Amino acid sequence: MQDSPSEFRRAARINGIEISQIVQISETAAQMRADGHDVVALSTGAPDFPTPDFVIQAAHNAALAGQTGYTATAGTNELRDEIAAQSHVTRAHVIVSTGAKQVLANAMLATLNDGDEVIIPTPYWTSYSDIVTMAGGTAVTVPCPMSQGFKLTPEDLEKAISPETRWLMLNSPSNPSGAIYTKSEIRALAQVLANHPHVWVLADEIYEHLSYVPFTSFAVAAPELAGRTLIVNGVSKAWAMTGWRIGWGIGPAPLIRAMIAVQGQITSGACSISQAAALAALTGDRKLLSDRLQDFDARRKLVVGGLNAMAGITCPEPDGAFYVFPNIEGMMAKGGFATCTDACNWLLEKAHVAIVPGTAFGLPGHARISFAYGQDDLNEGLTRMASALKNCVSSPIK
Ligand code: PMP
Repeated sequence: MQDSPSEFRRAARINGIEISQIVQISETAAQMRADGHDVVALSTGAPDFPTPDFVIQAAHNAALAGQTGYTATAGTNELRDEIAAQSHVTRAHVIVSTGAKQVLANAMLATLNDGDEVIIPTPYWTSYSDIVTMAGGTAVTVPCPMSQGFKLTPEDLEKAISPETRWLMLNSPSNPSGAIYTKSEIRALAQVLANHPHVWVLADEIYEHLSYVPFTSFAVAAPELAGRTLIVNGVSKAWAMTGWRIGWGIGPAPLIRAMIAVQGQITSGACSISQAAALAALTGDRKLLSDRLQDFDARRKLVVGGLNAMAGITCPEPDGAFYVFPNIEGMMAKGGFATCTDACNWLLEKAHVAIVPGTAFGLPGHARISFAYGQDDLNEGLTRMASALKNCVSSPIK
């Protein structure tokens, strides 16, 4: 087929929107592997564990039992009711979507008018700003440097709010930093929000079950804001079900109705078989989650220790999720790299280790390393990074 670029015109709505840098790096790593290179990819946010057997069994049973047609747009009653019961709300407050990502997109498409602002504490998960942009909104990024634990302060929140602000997007535990907002930190933000009733809160808690310190849901810490809070969660991360594509939103019924309307015109209900699988996950034995958490904790310590032993890298211990987000400015200076993207590209080319530059998350000078990989891969990745860094420091790259 012949491409005719001169005739192709992108919608203004997606100007500047490109395939996510995380996906790009992971695809380059996969291509290098296909070309015969031995690449260690520490770039993606998908657990290396398999989906639990009992979940797969439930999907199999559902398919054989004929649960293969469209479901209700908002999700099956069984799954919505279970999510609702576990969050002490009713079905009308729950939407099930094709991954947590679609919940975010539904929410933004359902609520933003052109020019509405969405406050995004930075570093943020790559898709946040692009989803806001595609929905016609303006992403207002607020720097939250490592020195403040990568967290939004009440003062900075107050300063970022304008009459146009529609949402605050809060992600705890955070991708990429692993930061978790404590109950009192949420209370302090809630106190600011109390004075700005036009600002809604999207609390993305997809990493809830991957917390190494106590986790408090925004809904629990700030119940007085329930009338303008959307909680986002799903099975992708904790149950190792990224490919099943099930996430959900819990919020005020009028918002959920608007999101269902959007979803109904784009994808309809999420996959019927995956919904049966998610129901099994939610109602199944949770011991598996705590076992896996222990594994992740051991990996977290391994990676933090390994990175901090490298010259020019400062790696705080993340409180949740399965990423570390070290500062690599020292390494950049010593190696002569102008940007963290250059440094990460160099690591991929020379050491065959794929990690994601901080620019993908709005905070240059950092890099995200995922520890959702087995200890062998992590050890190999760290060893390669350490020896590559030694070499680049002794002969800086120009
Ligand atoms: N929110 C955050 C913070 C994430 O890291 C991700 C996945 N990388 C998602 C949402 C999307 O999850 P899902 O795969 O369920 O769409």
